[in-house]
Amino acid sequence: MADKPESVKDQARRLARASAVAKGKIDRPLNLMEVCGTHTVALFRHGVRGLLPEGIRLLSGPGCPVCVTGIPDVESAMAIARMPGVVLCTFGDMMRVPGGKLTLFDAKADGADVRIVYSPLDALKLAAENPDLKVVFFATGFETTSPLVAATIMQAEVQGVENFYVHTVHKLVPPALEALLGSGEVKIDGLVLPGHACSITGTGPFEFVAEKHGVPAVVTGFGALDMLEGILMILNQIVAGRPEVDIQYKKIVRPEGNPRALQALDKVFTPADAYWRGIGSIPQSGFALKEPYAKREALQVLGPIAVPEYSEPKGCSCGEVLKGLKLPTDCKLFGKACTPERPVGACMVSTEGSCAAYFKYGATGSATGSATGTFY
Ligand code: SF4
Repeated sequence: MADKPESVKDQARRLARASAVAKGKIDRPLNLMEVCGTHTVALFRHGVRGLLPEGIRLLSGPGCPVCVTGIPDVESAMAIARMPGVVLCTFGDMMRVPGGKLTLFDAKADGADVRIVYSPLDALKLAAENPDLKVVFFATGFETTSPLVAATIMQAEVQGVENFYVHTVHKLVPPALEALLGSGEVKIDGLVLPGHACSITGTGPFEFVAEKHGVPAVVTGFGALDMLEGILMILNQIVAGRPEVDIQYKKIVRPEGNPRALQALDKVFTPADAYWRGIGSIPQSGFALKEPYAKREALQVLGPIAVPEYSEPKGCSCGEVLKGLKLPTDCKLFGKACTPERPVGACMVSTEGSCAAYFKYGATGSATGSATGTFY
């Protein structure tokens, strides 16, 4: 007879038992970091935070693409969009990200040609249909989105669409984790790794978190049972004293990743230093275009573009939130001067931003207390 499917309650009970043992090994609250914004939202949406035993703190990590796109990158995107004969195509959630003073929405209202697309392929189509325009795709996001951008650039080459360009500000997750763990600023006892990014990369690029830093990590899916099981697997590693990078999301993620996507990335991009909002420059954490595709980098073709220097908005703690040093609710502006309708910082813009998620789901908490959230 087949085993009865595990219920959320069963899994939560097992988690509580494992947590009690794990806490016997570590004499303080356990800090687990969910690296990606999709997990931050899914943990709230499925009520998983409310099911966690006392003493497990969930910290949000740097895995929200909108949140980590720097002010200089937004400013240069606006400068590109203001150029005559140039169209800037972007995903919708980038429109409200604050630059120094304005957003892409403001630039569009002022007459810049900014268009929202759902895929880089839409931008390529626009370029093919309008050879007299220079069409630039604002390429943001992590390993989940960069393979499609790589494929689109190769497609432009095949189709001979010469007026298609990209403004590349892609980010890579593993170097950001290396910067975070290496800094020693925050004690992280376990990592919930992003299921979708790892479906591309596999587990290889993340092995260092266990081997070098001794931090247990589990690639986890996005359902309630997935996340409870992923957290349980982390606790079991803590109890066993054997940190490793394991996969809970086996139906999607293979240790070797997606070879075709990795091949496309390798063909088109080469790792390059990148600037992360609130964090700073991280070596080899972004992408630059390789030959023969470098001619499609907008900043090379349309530049050089000088953008004014701006600092992060006064009072905004996005940088500390993205590094797990603070919870959104620790920011004095949270829910007062800063709301999803009137975001001050980037973490309040995207639905995957941790500040926006905490606001939407009515979470409370503090950096020193329980971060499990209160629901009302
Ligand atoms: Fe920045 Fe707003 Fe989040 Fe505060 S609540 S850290 S101001 S985005």
